[in-house]
Amino acid sequence: MTVRYSLFPMNKTGPARVLVHICCAPCALYPLELLKKRGYEIMGLFFNPNIHPLREYLKRRQAVAEAARALEIEVVYLDREYDLTTHMRRMVFREDQRCFLCYHLRLERTRNIALNGRFNYFTSTLLYSKRQKHQLISKAGESLSLEKCSFMYEDFRQGWNQGQEKAEAMGVYRQDYCGCIYSEFERNRADLERLIKQADK
Ligand code: SF4
Repeated sequence: MTVRYSLFPMNKTGPARVLVHICCAPCALYPLELLKKRGYEIMGLFFNPNIHPLREYLKRRQAVAEAARALEIEVVYLDREYDLTTHMRRMVFREDQRCFLCYHLRLERTRNIALNGRFNYFTSTLLYSKRQKHQLISKAGESLSLEKCSFMYEDFRQGWNQGQEKAEAMGVYRQDYCGCIYSEFERNRADLERLIKQADK
């Protein structure tokens, strides 16, 4: 069962608890501040085995830690589950579906931790990015939603400008590709094509 924001009830005994999957610092600022302002008890979860190479993962992790400190939000880091080989094996031969698989993997882990930790809801800062496949994120989240622990869907893209301005003001590290090695290739392939054209002249 997926619940839209207008229907999210608070707990009778206190604020509802939300586990927020965090993909990166620039995407986290707006959603975390918004949920905090609305009175939810929130905790972040950094689980992103899709980020390659490891050096890039470490940079983004560091940026999230700094942002979380500034926002006074606790974040759990699943560094032990950063396993390049396992992740690549999941994607190979399924490259055309890789983004859905990637969203599903991260949200499933988030949902399971939220369920064990008795959170009422789980969500993801991926829903903030205009560069992500928003419908696929929503589809993956909804497919994992349970009565006890629902997927909190919110179109955080509405706060795009606000989040970007805040990231700039805070000097947050901003990556220039989504995360996996395929996205890094797509981001830079024009440079390679330019070299090939030059060589063919
Ligand atoms: S492009 Fe981004 S969402 Fe898609 S598989 Fe790569 S890291 Fe995951």
